[in-house]
Amino acid sequence: MTNGLTHDVAIIGGGAAGLSAAVALARSLRSVVVVDAGEPRNAPAADAHNVLAREGTPPLQLLADGRREAEDYGADIRHDSALAVRRHGDAFEVDLAGGTTIRARRLLLATGLVDELPEIPGVRDFWGKTVLHCAYCHGWEVRGQRIGVLGTSPLSVHQALLFRQLSDDVTLFVHTMPDPGEEEWEQLAALDVRVVRGVVRRLRGEDGALRAVVLEDGQELLVDAVTVAPRFVARADLYEQLGGTLTDHPHGAFITTEPMGRTEIAGVWAAGNVSDLSAMVAVAAGAGVMAAAAINADLVAEDAAAAVRARQASPVR
Ligand SMILES: Cc1cc2nc3c(=O)[nH]c(=O)nc-3n(C[C@H](O)[C@H](O)[C@H](O)COP(=O)(O)OP(=O)(O)OC[C@H]3O[C@@H](n4cnc5c(N)ncnc54)[C@H](O)[C@@H]3O)c2cc1C
Repeated sequence: MTNGLTHDVAIIGGGAAGLSAAVALARSLRSVVVVDAGEPRNAPAADAHNVLAREGTPPLQLLADGRREAEDYGADIRHDSALAVRRHGDAFEVDLAGGTTIRARRLLLATGLVDELPEIPGVRDFWGKTVLHCAYCHGWEVRGQRIGVLGTSPLSVHQALLFRQLSDDVTLFVHTMPDPGEEEWEQLAALDVRVVRGVVRRLRGEDGALRAVVLEDGQELLVDAVTVAPRFVARADLYEQLGGTLTDHPHGAFITTEPMGRTEIAGVWAAGNVSDLSAMVAVAAGAGVMAAAAINADLVAEDAAAAVRARQASPVR
């Protein structure tokens, strides 16, 4: 049940995008509630990189500090999951798994995305540690090491070249990717990127560490790290409940927004990985701040229009 209070903004998702928006909105004296299930995408990683002035901070530490900052300005942060959303007059009602319902004038979806990993034994065991997707997030940490690139898409050659910038020992496992084109073969050969044909059966670890890529024919190649190309799928159930549709992308699906996060559904904004599949932490945080500014401006305009109507209706002017 709602407690009768209608917040200015409900933010679903308390990762980099949602918490940054919460700080900006709370600093504009907006009443903000953040609902967060506590499963940020980068949780498997030890540290977050390319976060200016917080370089190498553990992801959960970064968010704990962000929650404290948002709460210090008055944001109401709930550790819960938003299950259902509907319109209620001019507002939105959101049902939470814990049994409560919150009400808000505007909705910001900052629910992130799901990394759909290749279904190869071993990939999940090392995901975010030595099974990697992003040269900027983890490349420095594996520089100079033996890096295997699991070929699953036409962009796997590009991934091999990105990691070749960081190590002179890179092997591209063709696995299920289309055969490289002529120009790509030239690039791989010129940069001494080894190319191994055959389907990958599993990744083999030992004492908790990744050791080798094992092929269907039993051949094993020693590696220290493997890169993969997940499918990135926005967590957009709530958006779809409101009638929104996802936009397909060669690597997944996302919510299309205007530059400051407004979606095609009136009153609903989106920020972070849910609307930008490639956004890193700093980019997601920036998008959250921009969406907050746009939502605040929208509410300012609505409040001003209501004040004008009230003044015009008032007998004493
Ligand atoms: C392994 C890995 C390592 C990475 N390392 C880096 C790095 O070093 N540097 C970097 O810049 N980027 C890194 N990234 C990218 C980084 O994870 C994203 O940029 C960032 O998480 C995006 O923030 P976000 O707020 O959009 O989403 P998220 O951080 O994923 O946060 C979304 C939040 O919403 C919550 N949520 C979702 N649905 C609901 C719901 N229905 N109800 C309530 N809560 C909900 C989730 O539980 C989660 O807490 C990495 C990614 C991965 C996969």
